[in-house]
Amino acid sequence: MKKMQNQIQAIIEKTRKKYTFKPIKNNVTDVIVQTILSQHTSDKNSWKAFEKLKKRFKKYEQILKEKDSELEKTIRSAGLSKIKTKRIKKALAELKKINLKELEKEKPSKIQKELTKISGVGPKTAAITLIFGMGKQAIPVDTHVFRVSKRLGIATGKTPAKAQEELEEKIPEKYKAMLHVSLISIGRTVCKPKNPKCEECILKKHCNYYKKIFQVKKNIEQRF
Ligand code: SF4
Repeated sequence: MKKMQNQIQAIIEKTRKKYTFKPIKNNVTDVIVQTILSQHTSDKNSWKAFEKLKKRFKKYEQILKEKDSELEKTIRSAGLSKIKTKRIKKALAELKKINLKELEKEKPSKIQKELTKISGVGPKTAAITLIFGMGKQAIPVDTHVFRVSKRLGIATGKTPAKAQEELEEKIPEKYKAMLHVSLISIGRTVCKPKNPKCEECILKKHCNYYKKIFQVKKNIEQRF
């Protein structure tokens, strides 16, 4: 446990030298709708759908009254439009019953618990809402954060949701959002799914995967 805490501390020290990031306050409903639109598609496609939706519906109230087929047409570029239409409508109906101003006064863990009660809002979406909507700390685990944190060895959970639970506990509060952004960037640039470019990675000294590879190489060299 102590060893892992030291490893996490070292990773934070390395990443914070390169990445700075502070949580942002924004319209919470916008962030939830955007995140639902972004499921299983690229940022470009989901952003296009969100822009179209905001242009067509000036108030979210209008979406609730609109036919599903109309909303599906509007958000088509984000893909899975039938499913996303249902999710957005359900989430908006449930959000209407929540006093977001009051909720924002709670601790991040309590907010996250309440947000995941909304249809279509899982742990990742709730954590994204905390960072990009409420200006609070959280560490959402997407596909990049999942892969990189598992290779580093700071998360062992078999699913992103499990890994998120672990990281929420292990990462000091004030560095969660910064680490989320750093691990995404590292995942996109060097720690790719296939053939990670470990030699270029700022975290190689603190990475279990790299150490294993290094050890295997050393063993092979010693045998010949
Ligand atoms: S050292 Fe390699 S495996 Fe480890 S985080 Fe960096 S790129 Fe990924």
